[in-house]
Amino acid sequence: MSWQQCVALQQPQYEDLAELSRALGELSQLPPLVTSWEVLALKQALAEAQEGKRFLLQGGDCAESFADCTSPIISNRLKVLLQMSLVLVHGLKQPVLRVGRFAGQYAKPRSADTETHDGVTLPSFRGDVVNGPDFTAAARRPDPQRLIRGHAHSALTMNFVRALVDGGFADLHHPEYWDLAWVEHSPLAAEYRRMVAGIGDSLRFMETLAGPIAGFTRVDFFTSHEALLLHYEQALTRQVPRHRGWFNLSTHFPWIGMRTAALDGAHVEYFRGIRNPIAVKVGPSVTPELLLPLIDALNPEDEPGRLTLIHRMGHASIAEKLPPLLDAVRRAGRRVLWVADPMHGNTENTSIGYKTRRFDNIRSELDQAFDIHAAAGTHLGGVHLELTGEDVTECMGGARDLSEADLQRAYKSMVDPRLNYEQSLELAMLIVRKSGG
Ligand code: PEP
Ligand code: MN
Repeated sequence: MSWQQCVALQQPQYEDLAELSRALGELSQLPPLVTSWEVLALKQALAEAQEGKRFLLQGGDCAESFADCTSPIISNRLKVLLQMSLVLVHGLKQPVLRVGRFAGQYAKPRSADTETHDGVTLPSFRGDVVNGPDFTAAARRPDPQRLIRGHAHSALTMNFVRALVDGGFADLHHPEYWDLAWVEHSPLAAEYRRMVAGIGDSLRFMETLAGPIAGFTRVDFFTSHEALLLHYEQALTRQVPRHRGWFNLSTHFPWIGMRTAALDGAHVEYFRGIRNPIAVKVGPSVTPELLLPLIDALNPEDEPGRLTLIHRMGHASIAEKLPPLLDAVRRAGRRVLWVADPMHGNTENTSIGYKTRRFDNIRSELDQAFDIHAAAGTHLGGVHLELTGEDVTECMGGARDLSEADLQRAYKSMVDPRLNYEQSLELAMLIVRKSGG
């Protein structure tokens, strides 16, 4: 069966189908962004995370934008992720698997298809790969040319990230490369620097004994995005005879969002047919009766590394909603990687209309997630976060105790509120504490 025979939620309504088909034809001839070797290497690493031998750090913007495809924004985001992963490696004493929410995170699910202001109704903004954010008829028209631009911007981002992490930027001998200019006086930056100085001492000590150690000069970085726009994903899904199957080569690690995870829906049907490691967001409405058939559909052979479940329950619901799922999956003897997304269940609107999240609620959900897994005898093997290296004020609380009034100072997200530097680093430190590091 093809996904085209199932109900595909959250897809744009293109006006000119011939134009769409031309753009998809072009896209399907363009080179892919990743290779099947990389995809299979990630699957193997995720299998190790399932066994508790690695920890997954997955993070980036809620929605990337074409305008933010710039050198400082890409490298600052990478800096935060590298700093967090250093905290995790040091504290957890195990390898960290780094996966960006970038190089393709351009399509967004929306709660309504249209938006009305002052009597004018237009299609909702669905991400830069679909239409533009401005509230004009021209910007909001789903434009097939944006599919090509989405591919190009993903390639530009990926090219820059690959060059940075291969070419010396990620060298553990020079963690000062990852310092962010604007965090000079942060209390957490000082704690982080003390830790880094300690690591530097150990590194020099080891290399005095053993000579230069190659593994310390670079890292692996994988990419992920919500594979929402099925036409786009299909055009970049390629048959790889060497590895006997179809791979989505637009990203290493696509995921199914909470709104499109119906068992009989088009997204699940599409994901069944690809060999990538995949993830599914699991929200508070998911029961064991819904989850087990989904696991059967997406990973019928119980293949290691294939399926990650990202729970996003909300701090007030996780204690009630998560344990039955953990219990059911454990009893069924199914192999999954459990990952916590403490962001998406904790979104709220302020009185003046900002979409925000309270850091205390995010921290509480993550904190509870570790305890709930420990009590259930399951393993929490990763986190999924929305964060940025820019000086934003989008989530309230954290080390600088951002208030509702602070939000207007630097609220830049087009969709969901992201953690800033201190809030991100604080969560990394929390993970270390909860894991007994
Ligand atoms: C997201 O990850 O940005 C998102 C929309 O999440 P969810 O599907 O969990 O709501
Ligand atoms: Mn989001």
